[in-house]
Amino acid sequence: MTKHNFNAGPSILPRIAVENTAKAILDLNGSGLGLMEISHRHKDFQAIIDEAVALFKELLNIPDGYHVLFLGGGASMQFCMVPFNYFRSKAAYLETGVWAKKAIKESKGFGETIIVASSAEKNFNFVPSAYEIPADADYFHITTNNTIYGTELRKDIDSPVPLIADMSSDIMSRPVDVSKYALIYGGAQKNVGPAGVTFVIVREDTLGKVERKIPTMLDYRTHIGEASLFNTPPCVNIFTLKETLKWIKALGGVEAVEQMNLKKAGLLYDAIDNSTIFVGTAEKESRSLMNICFVMKDAYKDKEEEFIKFAQGKGMVGIKGHRSVGGFRASTYNALPIESVQALIDAMHEFEKMVV
Ligand SMILES: *Cc1c(COP(=O)(O)O)cnc(C)c1O
Repeated sequence: MTKHNFNAGPSILPRIAVENTAKAILDLNGSGLGLMEISHRHKDFQAIIDEAVALFKELLNIPDGYHVLFLGGGASMQFCMVPFNYFRSKAAYLETGVWAKKAIKESKGFGETIIVASSAEKNFNFVPSAYEIPADADYFHITTNNTIYGTELRKDIDSPVPLIADMSSDIMSRPVDVSKYALIYGGAQKNVGPAGVTFVIVREDTLGKVERKIPTMLDYRTHIGEASLFNTPPCVNIFTLKETLKWIKALGGVEAVEQMNLKKAGLLYDAIDNSTIFVGTAEKESRSLMNICFVMKDAYKDKEEEFIKFAQGKGMVGIKGHRSVGGFRASTYNALPIESVQALIDAMHEFEKMVV
């Protein structure tokens, strides 16, 4: 049976990227050696990481003065790396979900941390838009896509202080005006690669302004200086990321991918909005194109488990909602084909006919 992979992360990758990785693991470029078995200083690996950086820069139109790094530690490591490198006396955060809260927790260990706005009282079902960013903050931190709640900030905001964004779950899903940010980071495992590699886009002249001694591995300047090869990077993951970016480029870049994402999410949101039994959980203006969260209306609440089983029988994978929201979450990342979205909608319609 065809599987429709709606996993939230790690999640579906372009088939071609996975196949090319499998081949390279067995034999890289006909060298007789596997990708996992060569030095990260080997010229063949250097070419891979160089291409990954170049594609990242090209696809997001990254201006001069920025570096693209591939690190370990996940997005979660960035939660503390950010204050290590930027916190002087005060930081500002937008609280839009569990990941934002985890970032805030790390900042609090460094000192005064202002939460400029929060959607906590509505279980994070929207992204606040009315707030003032303190002009004396060292930086302002946002989470552009809230993976658990299905909300997204799909525009690049203006900030009077250096803007820092966790883009773990929507990087490469739309064009980004990188010039508005001091730093963008994320785990690759939602939209650009396997778990284990973390991407960082950093504007170099925003660094070096703190007094503290930063541990070597946590200092962005270490990794800029060694072009992500200070220590052994996650080589295989970087290869898959590079193949994923090649796939995006071949589709026509992030502009084309955004159109596909709008279409996929639009189909599913329409089906939810026109349903007698399902209802969306995120406020309409904040809806994510990447994670689509919905539940059953009160009269049908007891049918949620039954629908999960029904959908599983039709090949749907990973549609159970996060425990803090309940119901269903369909993650519609770049690599998810529109046919899978259609299959889910068909299953929803069929189920509705059975229970109404
Ligand atoms: C998944 C996710 C994280 C955590 O990433 P790790 O790589 O597991 O540390 C952080 N932020 C967002 C928005 C996420 O979706």
